[in-house]
Order: sequence, then structure tokens, then C-alpha cells
Amino acid sequence: MYEVIASPFLDDSLVLRPGSQQAVKIGAQRYRELLGAAAVPDAPCPPWLVDAAHARWGLDLGGRPLAGTVMVREPSPYGYGRASYELNLGCNYDCEHCYLGLKQFKGMAWDDRERVLHIMQDAGVLWVQLTGGEPTIDPLFNEVYMLAWDLGMMITVLSNGSRLHNPRILEVLVAPPVPDHVERVRRDGGVLRRADSAPGCVPAVHQGPGRGA
Ligand code: SF4
Repeated sequence: MYEVIASPFLDDSLVLRPGSQQAVKIGAQRYRELLGAAAVPDAPCPPWLVDAAHARWGLDLGGRPLAGTVMVREPSPYGYGRASYELNLGCNYDCEHCYLGLKQFKGMAWDDRERVLHIMQDAGVLWVQLTGGEPTIDPLFNEVYMLAWDLGMMITVLSNGSRLHNPRILEVLVAPPVPDHVERVRRDGGVLRRADSAPGCVPAVHQGPGRGA
């Protein structure tokens, strides 16, 4: 499982760490250096990257091979940076302020989802938001999350938080670094208290990562 992602993003080249809002700008030349080194078996992480990762995240990449440690994204001729993917339009709540009308629980078949995510990757999408409806009730949520991870995307989950205690959901949200949005939900139940009138919502969120069984 990789530690950081190196990728072009619009006019910059960045190194990012999933779960962190901080990045390192590396410039086009150093990005090309990583791209070349990624094709060389057993190439180590270059010293400048070891130093930068330690300074930014306290992460020790010293002596580690580039392959498997750094996900080096290929450049895209299309230059997109962000995408939002509605996994389905169903939800386990029925909030009165909801923009959804009729809740539709079905999403695309897996083959089409794979295709969509690969198209995003080819288009240069580095940040992807998984949303719905409620994405965590989608039967293929874990598969979508892990493929987006494997393709080197920074993942945000836009969720009502009601399934954060579910062991199957935690498999992907806790094993890889927890995405930024989930961290914010965990820290600020007050926002949800004001925004969501569904009975049982706030207790369900507070059952979240680290408390559920
Ligand atoms: S949790 Fe969100 S998607 Fe679900 S009913 Fe409420 S506002 Fe709509």
C-alpha cells in the first residue's frame, strides 16, 4: 500500500498523502524524475523526497523503494483535477431539506463503475468525492473506494455518517488513512446536529470509527 501520491495537478506537480490536507509542491522537473524512476525496478525514494516527506508529514521514506511507496500518476492530456461521483440516489434518511425527490437505490453495474473510475484517472482526476444519496449504503461502496484508492486518487466521502460504525465500511475507511471529510464529521457532531433532523442521526455518527463493533 503506497504512502504518498505524486501527480500533476493543473499547472503544478504535487506530492500528497491520503488523509492529510497538506501537500508538497515539487515542480515539473522532479515529477518527471519520479515518473522515470517509477519504471526502474528497485529504484529508491530520492533523498529530496525523503526529506520533504519527513518535513511535511513526519513520514520516514528513507531506504524504501519508490515502487509500492509512491504512487506516481501518469500525466493526462485532459488536465482535469477533481470529480464528484454519485454512487446512487438512495438514502437511509428522509430529511425534509433534502434536494433528492424520489430516492433511487440502484447504481451502475460494477463494470460501468470500473470504467467510470478509469476514465476519471485518464482525465487526470486527483481528488474524487464519493457521494449520493448516501454512498455508504451502496452495496459496492467498498469496491468503488478501493479502486479509486488503487488508481491514486485522494478520496472525500460526503456522508450522513450513519454507517461509520459498520465494520464493513470501516474496513476501507480505517485501513487506508481516514479521508479528510470523515475526520471532520468525527470532530464536529454539532454541524450535523444543526443540519440533519433525521431521528437517531447524531448518535449513529458518534458511534463512528473507533467505537463501533
Ligand atoms: S442524509 Fe442527505 S441525502 Fe439523505 S435524506 Fe438527508 S439530506 Fe438527503
